Amino acid sequence: MARMNSIPTETAALQTLRTVFGYEQFRPMQDEVVDQMINGGDALVLMPTGGGKSLCFQIPALVREGTAIVISPLIALMQDQVSALHQNGIKAAFLNSALTSQQAAEVEQQFFAGELDMLYVAPERLMMPRTLSMLEQCPIALFAIDEAHCVSQWGHDFRPEYIKLSILHERFPTVPRIALTATADEATRKEIIERLALDDAKIFNNGFDRPNIQYRISENSGNARDQLYRFIRNEHDGEAGIVYCLSRKRVDDTAAWLSRKGLRALPYHAGHNNDVRQQHQERFLREEGIIIVATIAFGMGIDKPDVRFVAHLNLPKSIEAYYQETGRAGRDGRPSNTWMSYGLQDVITLRQMQESSNANETFKRTERHKLDAMLGLCELTTCRRQALLRYFGDTLDEPCGNCDNCLTPPETWDATVAAQKALSCVHRTGQRFGVNYLIDVLRGSDADRIKQFTHDKISTYGIGKEHTAVEWRTLYRQLISHGLLSVDIDGHGGLRLTNESRPVLRGETQLHLRKMTKKHSAGKQRSKTPFGKAADSRFWDALRDKRKQLATEQGIAAYMIFHDATLMEMVDRRPQTLDQLGLISGIGAKKLEAYGKEFLSVIVEYESEASGDVNDSAAESIKLVCNGMKPLEIAHKRDLTLNTVYTHLANAIAQSEIELKDAVELDEKTLKLIRFEIEQSDDGKLKPVFDALAGEFDYGVLRCVKSDMTVGNN
Ligand code: ADP
Ligand code: ZN
Repeated sequence: MARMNSIPTETAALQTLRTVFGYEQFRPMQDEVVDQMINGGDALVLMPTGGGKSLCFQIPALVREGTAIVISPLIALMQDQVSALHQNGIKAAFLNSALTSQQAAEVEQQFFAGELDMLYVAPERLMMPRTLSMLEQCPIALFAIDEAHCVSQWGHDFRPEYIKLSILHERFPTVPRIALTATADEATRKEIIERLALDDAKIFNNGFDRPNIQYRISENSGNARDQLYRFIRNEHDGEAGIVYCLSRKRVDDTAAWLSRKGLRALPYHAGHNNDVRQQHQERFLREEGIIIVATIAFGMGIDKPDVRFVAHLNLPKSIEAYYQETGRAGRDGRPSNTWMSYGLQDVITLRQMQESSNANETFKRTERHKLDAMLGLCELTTCRRQALLRYFGDTLDEPCGNCDNCLTPPETWDATVAAQKALSCVHRTGQRFGVNYLIDVLRGSDADRIKQFTHDKISTYGIGKEHTAVEWRTLYRQLISHGLLSVDIDGHGGLRLTNESRPVLRGETQLHLRKMTKKHSAGKQRSKTPFGKAADSRFWDALRDKRKQLATEQGIAAYMIFHDATLMEMVDRRPQTLDQLGLISGIGAKKLEAYGKEFLSVIVEYESEASGDVNDSAAESIKLVCNGMKPLEIAHKRDLTLNTVYTHLANAIAQSEIELKDAVELDEKTLKLIRFEIEQSDDGKLKPVFDALAGEFDYGVLRCVKSDMTVGNN
């Protein structure tokens, strides 16, 4: 890469942004950080995931003299990061324990020859005397310390080697340093500055909001897995996502179950050997539409831009963890969903885990506060985003309009009387029974156990028949969440009153609680592709196929060729020449040269096909079916094959132009049967469905039913 020191710095930075990365403008704050680095200052950058932190050091790395050293704890991802840079024609390499000594020697040679723009190094490698003295022998453009929150001993990503990084300041006092993180609250921020000796660094704080992420938290009323499945099928069919579970067993079970239901789901947890983990992670990164089911061991530094959803089947133990995990969705800035289901058992388990831990009292108290905050977020009836940002010391003036509470405001009810009954039942039974028993007493069950304890004689026996057992469970969960009841640490789930419960019992405080949602509250349903017109989505598919082919040939991830956003702009703009193609965001000089022709030919081929009368022909079939004609009649009348007519209709259904019943006549029972078979089928193939139904239904009919399911009608 030619150095551009002769050009004034601002122009050099902007020029690099445009020619190398193919982006037209800096995002807010990026240009200021870049300036600071180019001018040799230090910087601490706090930017949400997907905010564009990488460019903050990559551009100065190219503009400044010498090699930029990037310190990252994520050894497993270095290869991918470096490959992505190569795609843009940037000379980058990495040094970590994954390299053979010969490979490492080659990298060192390149470094000594001044051939590298960027060198990624694992912190433990950097600290080796040999590496440090190597760095002293050549010009260094800057040090970038990625995932800087790893210096924090209180955080969940603590890396001991990170603390030693202050040595950089001592050994290389004139080299500018930039520390970057997405997860810094006030305390962590201070720790980063202190431990990395960044006292003179300029702080760039871009807030923490992720406006493209929708937050949804729902109650688990016993069928969380089914809810999850519906969520994925209805809103994210064929898209990449992460599902978090608390235990390894639940990870394995869930992944297997989702796979049986025809989704492409892979498990990931620390109990698998390295090869399996590596392989699953790689498939998730490289293939499209893979769902990874994981414990929290998965995800740090995963910079896959097109993760469309993050789901939690368990309650995370803090808002920090929740925000970090959900933050892995939508790095590319496109709409993404987060979904969580939690229930009474989650609350009890987490409380117990915490109380029975051997940690010291201070630590326990912190953890308790964190869990309280998380539970508070769950039971909240107002905007979740406002609460999340407030927690991180950030503000949002108006409710966001993009969380479940904003989209479908929950109802609340005056739960004071019910709470009094629930609490006094705890009191009357001696503060040692669990929820199920308490509910039995409240609802006047004639179970033997209750008689043995003579609890059928106490005043709270049978006073709660007006609510169902499910409603009582919800109420107990809320009382625990709000700290009105505590959970026994002996592991049997016995409940006790707390100081906070007294005012409620005495009738001094009123309780307004979230009403249980009857149906699962879904957000706005998105159709499978982001396009309104069927023609556009076929074009989109053609572009994605091309991208996949190119990526497979090189053994890299599809997004490294072009991001979805870049392909989408191609659909919108339909560039006809290489120059026009080069104007699209995300296409720099190197990629234009490498892939421009390939993509242009897809565009040209596609346009000639689409300019035929395919669309007009479909419109005619749709018009006839709307006039009440049957598919077979249309085929005869228009001299088309029945298959063609059904294709027209299936597409129209997928685009919600017509309804399923306009196209096929099936009674509810048959329809159910067909849907069931489609759900069982791998990868949505129709052959197994056709066979399972003994060939009774035409492929065209099956295709129509399937289209109807993709728009969420099942
Ligand atoms: P972070 O490291 O902060 O999570 P990244 O550096 O991975 O975020 O950037 C997120 C996405 O935004 C990437 O796909 C990147 O290419 C894109 N991006 C960054 N800066 C710009 C820009 N100025 N214009 C357009 N896209 C950008
Ligand atoms: Zn909101």
